[in-house]
Amino acid sequence: MAQIIDGKLISLQIQEEIAAEVKTIKANNGKIPHLAAILVGNDGASETYVGAKVKACEKIGFKSTLVRLSETTTDQELIYFIEGLNADADIDGYIVQLPLPKHMDEQKIMEAIAPQKDVDGFHPQNIGRMALNLPTYLPATPYGIMQLLERYKIETVGKNCVVIGRSHIVGSPMSILMARNTNPGNCTVTMCHSRTANLKEFTLKADIIIVALGKAEFLTADMVKDGVVVIDVGITRVASSETKSGFKLLGDVKYDEVAEKSSFITPVPGGVGPMTIASLLMNTLKASKKEIYK
Ligand code: NAD
Repeated sequence: MAQIIDGKLISLQIQEEIAAEVKTIKANNGKIPHLAAILVGNDGASETYVGAKVKACEKIGFKSTLVRLSETTTDQELIYFIEGLNADADIDGYIVQLPLPKHMDEQKIMEAIAPQKDVDGFHPQNIGRMALNLPTYLPATPYGIMQLLERYKIETVGKNCVVIGRSHIVGSPMSILMARNTNPGNCTVTMCHSRTANLKEFTLKADIIIVALGKAEFLTADMVKDGVVVIDVGITRVASSETKSGFKLLGDVKYDEVAEKSSFITPVPGGVGPMTIASLLMNTLKASKKEIYK
């Protein structure tokens, strides 16, 4: 039976480590890390995510600033605020919460963020630096997964790793990170996606499977070999009579049956999800200490 990778616990541990460092910074009259977030519009999920990020900042002693803009904001108006944050010496890093309203050009917005302050790691320069194995801000979810692999001391060198999904925020960066000459890393990576033929042929050979496609319970026990390490990124909300709220969250893995065959597995919820905030805080601390861009 698998060892459960407890993302909630690791995320809290990381937050405690950062809080201790902030205490020392304060005691030495150093600069207190300052994260800003821009939220455009009133998307319910985005409100929740940004709220959780601001709360986490407060808890660990960071300064935080929330910029709220209306649903009808234009690209130009948003870029005006972005340029303000780029020029503000007290702001170490900031995020523009995605998704943006449909009329906006997300790529153009991402490129307006100063790479030095891009703590979400979405600027093309930072993605390029990641691919070249240069110091950079890693995107939050992949960074969180790398932390889980490292802190659970999961052996990755020389392993076959299958990544399912090629999104810019999870699958693609994950495939790059697992192939890099780093630890964790040094895997032989196969990147699978919606056009992959015979997916099962690849997953059956995998020592590590990272699943990020957004289809509930997609990966089943017959698709994996014994002893596999399974990282489940998917989050799908489904109706449920078992919970008070009337819904529950499912991952991309049919958890119970795959766990039977796995050596390590992340649950949903409580696996990869909670790591996102920890990653953002780690990146903001790096920005504040000028670790990436001197
Ligand atoms: P996405 O929705 O942008 O893309 C899905 C990917 O899956 C595509 O690249 C597609 O090629 C691939 N795919 C679709 N059907 C497939 C199939 N049958 N076989 C193989 N590949 C297939 O992906 P995303 O934004 O990375 O999100 C994926 C899931 O992860 C979603 O459920 C999302 O909610 C979740 N997510 C969770 C976190 C977290 O913090 N836990 C963070 C980001 C995303």
